[in-house]
Amino acid sequence: MNGGLAESASDSAPRSEPGWGASDLLAAFLGGRDYPCPCCGYNLRDLTSDCCPECGDVLVLRVGSAHPRLAWFVTGLVGISVGFGFNLVLFAWAIVSHFSAGYPGFDQPEMIWIVVATPMLCALVVAWVLGRRWVTPRPAAARWSLALLAWALGLGGSFAFFGIAM
Ligand SMILES: [Zn+2]
Repeated sequence: MNGGLAESASDSAPRSEPGWGASDLLAAFLGGRDYPCPCCGYNLRDLTSDCCPECGDVLVLRVGSAHPRLAWFVTGLVGISVGFGFNLVLFAWAIVSHFSAGYPGFDQPEMIWIVVATPMLCALVVAWVLGRRWVTPRPAAARWSLALLAWALGLGGSFAFFGIAM
């Protein structure tokens, strides 16, 4: 996460490191400076504790990146999500169809693909989100190659359905 200097402690960062005087640094930053609470927008100017007096949220002072390198992540996430969403809709349709008289449901061969591909693409979405911190420090070429691969898997996982269905 980047952007605001004073952020909610509930995100990820530890509340304070022993010996670092995190609360003192926060108080020094807010001394004489207008800064809104990231949760409720209350002006934290001259706050001396690490709690917002308005909403009670615990605050921390952080270093943020000027270039968070999110474009590859969002690009790849959209690619996988397109494939996952497409397969999920077909999966839902197959379930409804299965319980409706006169419709083939899961008896069609391409529906076996849907049963296999939907959880695989779901796992890829989860892996993409969880692997972000591991990939972000890699070179741009590696990050964007993965984003392209994500689109290939997302689109491939969707077009494979038509390939089997035809
Ligand atoms: Zn607040």
